[in-house]
Amino acid sequence: MAPANHRGNGRRAEADVHERLFLSNQVMLRMAEAKDPFASHDERSSDMVGLYVRVRGAGPMLQRAGKDEAGKQATGEKAIKPFEQPKLQPKDVRAAIDQFKNSDAAKTAVGRRVLSRLEELYKEEEIGLEDMPVGLGGEYRTGSQSWGRYDLGLSELQSYNAMALKMTHEAVHALEVERHSVDDEMAAFDFEADYYEELKKKKLVNPAEHDLNEDYLRLKAENRAVDVLFPKYAKLLDVAWIRKHKDDWGGLANRLSETRAAYVNSLLEEGDSEENLVFRIVSEPMVYDWEFHEMIAKIGDREKGDFAAGLRRLNVVFTPAHRDAFNRIIQTRMGSRIPK
Ligand SMILES: [Zn+2]
Repeated sequence: MAPANHRGNGRRAEADVHERLFLSNQVMLRMAEAKDPFASHDERSSDMVGLYVRVRGAGPMLQRAGKDEAGKQATGEKAIKPFEQPKLQPKDVRAAIDQFKNSDAAKTAVGRRVLSRLEELYKEEEIGLEDMPVGLGGEYRTGSQSWGRYDLGLSELQSYNAMALKMTHEAVHALEVERHSVDDEMAAFDFEADYYEELKKKKLVNPAEHDLNEDYLRLKAENRAVDVLFPKYAKLLDVAWIRKHKDDWGGLANRLSETRAAYVNSLLEEGDSEENLVFRIVSEPMVYDWEFHEMIAKIGDREKGDFAAGLRRLNVVFTPAHRDAFNRIIQTRMGSRIPK
């Protein structure tokens, strides 16, 4: 059953999520195109893992969290006043790690590994500060397509706790030096969400500044954690993953339009039409007609959306029998509102 009443906040809230994900996606693209200030770092050692904290106001140059700075303020400096915007220095990396160290999240099985990875990266002077574009809530940059880097953006940093929150997300990625995957991203989001809940309960972060964490928790409660990841991480999808997970988390009926379009696009782009699976994905009922429209449009053009192109693309894939069934679904859902 499609959980109509689970939509709760309804269309506006969903649209907000999509808009935010889209915007952060755009920022990522711009960052990917920008000149890479860490290029020489990457070349230095392929097995070295770097975690960079990009902080607005930290200055244009990369600053290493040097050993000299360690310890000066690390201990004894309890939580700085929440919601205050500190001027960050490399020593703050140390302070942020210590905040995490004191948390319940750091005492879980994964948390202990995350903490020791952060300590390792810190010791190797692999955590740095860098200036970043305004409006980015926290990303690692994938411009180089390299697994050995974990850049992190913090534009709305209020506290060492908020900084620690983003650092732990990237540190989960840094636990396994493997191919970056959807599963890997979910693990990082999951860990971050648990830690975020703890910080929120203790009033150490301001929920108003953590839209993505809030979206994740809300959608996770609806069994839609995976839907937070799309379309942002759609390029991580592969056919095997879609086959494996199509019935998970409430199945296709519980997927949002963006996710379904990402699934279909991935199947088609890998040259594996899987027409039965494609047909299932697009014909599984959706709660709102506008979502159905959006899904087809995004199959036509992932960025701008193009409904007619989506229809054309699917009609090429489908057998005549599928095509007839699909056209009946379109008539039912869109009727006279089908754009020409
Ligand atoms: Zn991530």
